[in-house]
Amino acid sequence: MRVLLIEDDSAIAAGILDALRRSGFDAAHAATGAEGLAAVEAGTTEVVLLDLGLPDIDGVEVCRRIRATSTLPVIVVSARDDELDRVLALEMGADDYLVKPFGFRELAARIRAVMRRVTQEAAGDDASSARTLGALILDPRSRRVSLRGNAVHMTAKEFELLEYLTSDPGAVMRRGDILRDVWGTSWYGTTKTLDAHVAAIRKKLGDPAWIEAVRGIGFRFEALL
Ligand code: CA
Repeated sequence: MRVLLIEDDSAIAAGILDALRRSGFDAAHAATGAEGLAAVEAGTTEVVLLDLGLPDIDGVEVCRRIRATSTLPVIVVSARDDELDRVLALEMGADDYLVKPFGFRELAARIRAVMRRVTQEAAGDDASSARTLGALILDPRSRRVSLRGNAVHMTAKEFELLEYLTSDPGAVMRRGDILRDVWGTSWYGTTKTLDAHVAAIRKKLGDPAWIEAVRGIGFRFEALL
């Protein structure tokens, strides 16, 4: 996945680029807004990480110009923890907003989350066609689940959770992301609800190994035969 970092502070840029590469991303760097826009135009970028405080063009304006010509995901990474900047950036079409300093795991998780959303949106009809995951078939269109040819009845929330977990088989999904994307909240009180739903799905699938708990992080779906 090719990530373009638009950041004028070379020390900050070096740290982020290094972390991205260690996380397996192919990372490129632009030190000014103009350079960044030129790199976006060149067309090899898949995600943009954008600093707002740039020397030539304000980051919010860079975001607006990217949005004018493409649907490329843009994650703002800014030292400005200002409500107005945040609102402006999101209004200009930024997909996410991260305030410096941030952890690199957090950054990698946000990039993956944005890419997942984009991939699902781009897939359009594909996203709603049946998914075969080992012995399990999940059909988002009819909201039906079958295991080795037998129908498995899921509640609406169980289905949504399973659909989310199977959107990236083998990947660890973080509790906070699951709660935000499936329940629309990251309120900690609902983590018990999440555990209860995972337990119910495991029981219905007859084997807890379908959904592995990753201690301190979240859950990983594993397609079984
Ligand atoms: Ca800056």
